[in-house]
Amino acid sequence: SLTNLARLRSPILCVLGHVDTGKTKLLDKVRKTNVQEGEAGGITQQIGATFFPMTNLRKLTDQVSHSVKVDYKIPGLLVIDTPGHESFSNLRSRGTSICDICVLVVDIMHGLEPQTIESLQLLKRRRCPFLVALNKIDRCYDWQPNKDSPIQDTLAKQKSHTVREFESRWQGIKGEIASQGLNADLYYENKNPRKVVSVVPTSAITGEGVPDLLLLGIQLTQKMLVDRLMLSEALEATVLEVKVTEGFGTTLDIILVHGELHEGDTIVVCGMQGPIVTTIRTLLTPHPMKELRVKNEYVHHKSIEASMAVALPPVTSSLQAAMGVKIAASGLEGAVAGTSLLRLEKEDDIEELKSSVMEDLEELKKDVDKSGKGVHVQASTLGALEALLDFLHNSSIPVASINIGPVHKKDVIRASAMLERAPDLAMILAFDVKIVPEAEALAKKAGIKIFTANIIYHLFDQFKSFMEEKKA
Ligand code: GDP
Ligand code: MG
Repeated sequence: SLTNLARLRSPILCVLGHVDTGKTKLLDKVRKTNVQEGEAGGITQQIGATFFPMTNLRKLTDQVSHSVKVDYKIPGLLVIDTPGHESFSNLRSRGTSICDICVLVVDIMHGLEPQTIESLQLLKRRRCPFLVALNKIDRCYDWQPNKDSPIQDTLAKQKSHTVREFESRWQGIKGEIASQGLNADLYYENKNPRKVVSVVPTSAITGEGVPDLLLLGIQLTQKMLVDRLMLSEALEATVLEVKVTEGFGTTLDIILVHGELHEGDTIVVCGMQGPIVTTIRTLLTPHPMKELRVKNEYVHHKSIEASMAVALPPVTSSLQAAMGVKIAASGLEGAVAGTSLLRLEKEDDIEELKSSVMEDLEELKKDVDKSGKGVHVQASTLGALEALLDFLHNSSIPVASINIGPVHKKDVIRASAMLERAPDLAMILAFDVKIVPEAEALAKKAGIKIFTANIIYHLFDQFKSFMEEKKA
């Protein structure tokens, strides 16, 4: 009914996968098809995300909606374009993922790659519903393109040797997915979508299969998540990134899942050195005409609400609908990405909020080895650190200390405490973070090995071969 329709928020969809599988290109394709059809207006670029209103999605999925039955109940989709699984681990609020569904992109020519496997395992652990986009089908030999058409139509038009190549590549990938402990089927052959992962063959170049992918995404969120999508008044927001923004100092990029935020609100967020309590100075969204290189890149807002309807941006309106928002406030240095943002209300006990925002980090600190012997571990965000600690735990590598953010001198000093206690473990495992030059120099001088990688497996491999070398 219409009342239900008004009460569902936009689902949050996250795109994951190995580098170069076509994540960005797939999103570009959806945006571009709209631009070509003169529908760009409804699509809004947000902080770290893109909002696709249902009116646009409906046009794009028209051709497949006769074969896949779906009621359009949600107001649109918020798609998080930040690639890599680190961003997925970040999309959490109070311990649970704010990501409603994921699309895992696999290159049909390459099969499962390390980051794909890592994402698969993460999705499994978090029990996040997801689809697989089997991308770059147009690279099968002698492919006959059918621009923006549904996948079954285009497969029917291919020559038999092309279909055979497609089939054999798909069967191989299906086997690889099975060896990760998951069953997968092409979506139109999938009889048990609750247990078996649906796979949608796509091409981000020709747009083939893209309508299917969007429609399936809509269908999946609506089927599985109606309860989750009910709008509530309560504020739910999560910190996606902490970064310096020119003219604003250290800012928070957040995803606003539910509720409203106002200039002057007192907010509480997790900080590496303890809870941070501050006042929102300004709420910012990207300037809608950014491509014109306007001088001020951001639009200021007095208040912002989580978008539940089409977010056509009337710049002068005081209540802007958006889900990706940048917050400027003082004292945000040391804030931890991947944690909840809370607001202090009149009736709240501030001490309670403070301990609540610190909970996830405190939980991680418990994983640190009690013996006091172990490596120093550092990652970009809470989610990334959590994934890494999980992995080290399973690999029986002891951890003595942790930190979030770039590796500084003080981190090297901390790691060098191990030179006396357990010299073999006097090292830093750094995941997806920068090493500042002074830290690098000090580490060299002190004999602290620093391993860096953007993929957890690589870090582990480096560590293992280093240990073996030492033994030999
Ligand atoms: P990302 O790292 O996953 O975001 O990958 P990109 O979207 O940047 O794509 C990586 C490369 O693959 C680019 O050169 C794209 O043009 C190309 N690419 C992406 N999707 C497709 C596709 O469906 N077919 C073909 N032939 N090339 C693609
Ligand atoms: Mg990309």
